[in-house]
Amino acid sequence: AAVRRVGSADEFWATARRHLVRYARSDFSPALIERAAGSYVFDSDGRAILDFTSGQMSGLLGHSHPAIVESVSQSIATLDHLFSWMLSRPVVDLAAALARTLPPSLSKVLLLSTGGESNEAAIKMAKLSTGGYEVVAFDQSYHGVTHASSAATYGVSRAGYGPVAPGNIVVPTPNAYRPLFTRDGRHDWQAELDHAFAMVDRQSTGSLAAFIAEPVLSTGGVIDLPPGYLAALKQKCAERGMLLILDEAQTGLCRTGDWYAFQRDGVTPDILTLSKTLGAGLPLSAVITSEEIEARCHERGYYFATTHVSDPLPAAVGLAVIDVLTQGAYDQTARRLGDRLQRGLSELKDRHEHIGDVRGRGLLQGVELVTDRDTKEPAGDFGSAVTDACFRLGLHLNIVQFPGSSSILRLAPPLTITDTELDRGLDILDQALTAAAQRR
Ligand code: PMP
Repeated sequence: AAVRRVGSADEFWATARRHLVRYARSDFSPALIERAAGSYVFDSDGRAILDFTSGQMSGLLGHSHPAIVESVSQSIATLDHLFSWMLSRPVVDLAAALARTLPPSLSKVLLLSTGGESNEAAIKMAKLSTGGYEVVAFDQSYHGVTHASSAATYGVSRAGYGPVAPGNIVVPTPNAYRPLFTRDGRHDWQAELDHAFAMVDRQSTGSLAAFIAEPVLSTGGVIDLPPGYLAALKQKCAERGMLLILDEAQTGLCRTGDWYAFQRDGVTPDILTLSKTLGAGLPLSAVITSEEIEARCHERGYYFATTHVSDPLPAAVGLAVIDVLTQGAYDQTARRLGDRLQRGLSELKDRHEHIGDVRGRGLLQGVELVTDRDTKEPAGDFGSAVTDACFRLGLHLNIVQFPGSSSILRLAPPLTITDTELDRGLDILDQALTAAAQRR
């Protein structure tokens, strides 16, 4: 007999409660999602919910983009999965296609499955290549839940798992809205960077391997590194013989209005990791580095042959993603729509006193909620009241909440969203802010 399927929504939730591990701090979303298409997901009542999370950032091209459907259907029928050592055309084509979108020094590509895994592989590369083992990251970082990636992740709880990998060093995140150092009333990020590296030098035992960072800390609260910061950071790394790993899981592939967020600063990382956006909904990630680092790692026995390394199916999907982005000039789309989104959010700020800050790049925008604009007092539960109201009104938004920090709404719709859908999302957020404020 065929495997039994759940029937009614009641049976669905009872079965979910009985059999699923709860893998996040909060409960599951209360909606049973039956279908997704374009910028929307649809629940079991047929209600359309605008997806401003891009399926938590991986649905760069919305849901069920025809080019992705086509590449998956073709690959699954003709060339699905191979022994790790075997190569196929989609893998080599994708590696070359990625290299063409990048500065010449980033020419060597390793194709894996998830973001955490790509950072794990990048950190191992940095260790092997430098001979050091210490890894530095920002205190609002998120790089994944696997061993080394989670050791470099300070944005979620580390409590309860015992010691992380030794040699992890944490430094403050440069946050222009909540600066640690100011000069003449302005964020003095240079002083913060010097302070951060004074901390690094104090903590290091002389075995620095890498600094890992996102150019815009997304899950960390949509914190854009100040212009100039990355170049200065790269310099500090070079002076210490450590590598700069940039994690563009969320920012890579046009989302911020550039193909890669690091391009704004004209800084090339030693190692770049891509994930979420590269697979447009499917698990695909990449570690990209220079010939020199690749060669040194290989000589020293680098091993990262996973079950799904260099798999043809996700590689074919990645190629389709690059094709769509290139042909549609989606870097420009993200810039134009991002401006429209930011303008809309700034207008909401004029009308809603709980909005303390609007910030971000392209189609990755953050709205920080406070109870008082002068004191910047965190808005506490108000953020969840807003996202709950949004959800009821048909808009799904992520919310970032750190202990002791504000609620930050993250707006990251797919790059394929229409102007009308974008405006509709802003309209719902407007109504939700009003509804949540009235209830306080
Ligand atoms: N890096 C960044 C910047 C991320 O946002 C995430 C996921 N939120 C990861 C890495 C981890 O990716 P994955 O969940 O695919 O392992």
